[in-house]
Amino acid sequence: MIGLLGFVAIWGAARFLAVPRWLYWTLTIQWWIILIVMTWPRWSDVPEGGTTEKLTAHPSIVGGDPRGWLALGFLAAVVLAYRKALQRVRAKAAAGLADPVPQGTPAFREAELDRYARHILLREIGGPGQKRLKATRVLVVGAGGLGSPVLLYLAGAGVGIIGVIDADVVENTNLQRQVIHTDQRIGMPKVFSAEIAMRALNPFIEVRPYNRALTEANAADLVADYDLVLDGTDDFDTRYLVNRTCVAAGVPLISGALTQWEGQVSLFDPAKGGPCYACVFPVKPAAELVPSCAVAGVAAPLPGIIGGVMAMEAVKWITGAGQTLAGRLMIHDALYAETRVIGVKRRQDCAVCGGRQG
Ligand SMILES: [Zn+2]
Repeated sequence: MIGLLGFVAIWGAARFLAVPRWLYWTLTIQWWIILIVMTWPRWSDVPEGGTTEKLTAHPSIVGGDPRGWLALGFLAAVVLAYRKALQRVRAKAAAGLADPVPQGTPAFREAELDRYARHILLREIGGPGQKRLKATRVLVVGAGGLGSPVLLYLAGAGVGIIGVIDADVVENTNLQRQVIHTDQRIGMPKVFSAEIAMRALNPFIEVRPYNRALTEANAADLVADYDLVLDGTDDFDTRYLVNRTCVAAGVPLISGALTQWEGQVSLFDPAKGGPCYACVFPVKPAAELVPSCAVAGVAAPLPGIIGGVMAMEAVKWITGAGQTLAGRLMIHDALYAETRVIGVKRRQDCAVCGGRQG
């Protein structure tokens, strides 16, 4: 009948057309009211000869009976209220102390529970996910354009230990896009400037600044101390070094890169069978083909977009939420506001990870 078909149409459309939640709920409630009004008994329907007889429902094309529609509405309200209560109980339980994960994590303080409440509400993160964030050590290579949003969001998200390595100092030309630094901190090593901003945002995390360049000599020891590495450097030697080190240590790598208006991100985790950076980019491009930001320029918010995706991938990888960019490369063209995601595969003859068991 038409009455029920209306609900099916509204919810079907909501499912396939990404209709906002408020809109399909409004439509649902309006349709329900219409059904009751249309089926409500009318005086003209009262049988001749008085009102002693029972008033029957007004025959309507929508079908059904007002008592039926009222009962349906009541039932739906009860089910929704029950679901809401269940969600609340679950969120509370998730934030509680009974979680089995992870081992050895110190319990959250009251102020932390409050701080991470919006994460804990998310079904995909919840209390266990927030605990994993706190128990995870992430190394960020580079405190520049990509490093700025990455470090701020990882700090805000409550990643327990964040290492940051960079040998540069803050310069005037950085501030157009490297929003973790400030005008007052020009001349300060970037890692210390970043540390100040991260600690100001979240005093509940540990920041480990390494004011030096990542080299063959120090990379292995450094990466061994971390569970996940995010690379936002803009020189290819460091990029390949980070990849080699991560592959050797079995540590996943989230790698982001920028040129002028375009950026790309992927998650390389060959220990889980995916490709490594060198599988996708086997040959280092000639320097003149991929000019640095200093030479070619870069649009100010682009590092924010790409760095934001990198931080998001880190949060997803740590908490196990959704599907990461492992085996996929996301390319964003800011000039035309276009984003593509392409599949990337492991190469068996990869010089870096080819010989390893996936
Ligand atoms: Zn590889």
